[in-house]
Amino acid sequence: MRKVLLAAMACALLASITFAAPGAVRCGKLLDVRSGRTLDDQIVVFDDQGVILTVGPAASAKLPAGLTPVDLSAATCLPGLIDVHTHLTANPTDSGYASLGVSVPREAITGVKNARLTLRAGFTTVRNVGASGYTDVALRDGINAGDVEGPRMLVSGPPLGITGGHCDNNLLPSEFHYKAEGVADGPWAARAKVRETIKYGADLIKVCASGGVLSKGDQPGTPQYTLEELQAIAEEAHKLGRKVAAHAHGTQSIKDAIRAGIDSIEHSSLIDDEGIALAKQHGTYLVFDIYNDDFILQEGAKAGMLAESVEKEKKIGRLQRENFRRAYQSGAKIAFGTDAGVYPHGDNARQFAKMTEWGMKPIEAIQAATINAADLLGWSANVGALEPGHYADVIAVSGDPLGDIRVLEAVKFVMKGGTVVRNDLAAK
Ligand SMILES: [Zn+2]
Repeated sequence: MRKVLLAAMACALLASITFAAPGAVRCGKLLDVRSGRTLDDQIVVFDDQGVILTVGPAASAKLPAGLTPVDLSAATCLPGLIDVHTHLTANPTDSGYASLGVSVPREAITGVKNARLTLRAGFTTVRNVGASGYTDVALRDGINAGDVEGPRMLVSGPPLGITGGHCDNNLLPSEFHYKAEGVADGPWAARAKVRETIKYGADLIKVCASGGVLSKGDQPGTPQYTLEELQAIAEEAHKLGRKVAAHAHGTQSIKDAIRAGIDSIEHSSLIDDEGIALAKQHGTYLVFDIYNDDFILQEGAKAGMLAESVEKEKKIGRLQRENFRRAYQSGAKIAFGTDAGVYPHGDNARQFAKMTEWGMKPIEAIQAATINAADLLGWSANVGALEPGHYADVIAVSGDPLGDIRVLEAVKFVMKGGTVVRNDLAAK
């Protein structure tokens, strides 16, 4: 192995811009997110592709000659965090009518800024569920090509929705003849839209099953797509090898989406006991974005959100938190998703404290953002844990996240695939 590493190092020196070098980080403490145990003095060794080779006690680590680990001996290491519900190309200040003034190219540039903020906040992987003009596809490709600093991304492209629904654009009167690009009514039109979305680069399909909060003229609790339409979407997407995420606040839409075989329910606000039981039975992940309620109620009006949106949030925010607690206590599968873009990007970790306030143990909230999120994404072999074969996506914090979850709001070190993105712990 040593020989391989040295050869790889030489290679990396010759092509230092294109390839990461092999390396290692030495962690004073390392949180094993699977067992929930905090291990002392560990070294993570990775190869020139940024893939972890070994994780183990520093005392017995065999390091290639000349390789000095990054010193994180004063910190606690964790795997890079995952947010399964972001909108990197959107800003909260672009809400309501202000959104009409944002061009597609401008949205792409917004995405560049927010990708960097998100990665530097410790989120090394995101699932982006809704963007205009395939700006999310371009952002993902730019990041993968090394042109833009940002997290690993799975992207949905434009979300599918009914005419006049949450994922249409209802701000303009009829003479403008405007509809959002993901609008498709009826099972076959919806299937065609799934095919089109995948044709232009989507990794997954996002569908708006129920009404929403930030849209004009609809109600979060009312169903939009029918069961038949949701079944067509799920079947078509799965046939083409893609998972489906359904925006669903409403009780009926949540159940329809689960019965249709959709992989995750986003928001899940008005889920009832039957919905929770169905989610458990089908193995459906529930995603509760329970931090952003605080932002919408405090800052939403200033950010340009419609008055009706703030009113809707007042009715639904607390119920969502109570239902999060019930779903958690019932043992449903929960993944960490925040709806970043509704609130400012980079504040994603603020949701951890909400999740513990509403019932989860700190390790469970962290598992929701690591191993559970990776499972939902279908990336369990690559991200979500610090284990051989996984990407060297390592973050570090000062203090013990199991004792004080809020230390995750101030991440001190971020490495993505063996490349250090941020290190506030380095000797100055
Ligand atoms: Zn969203």
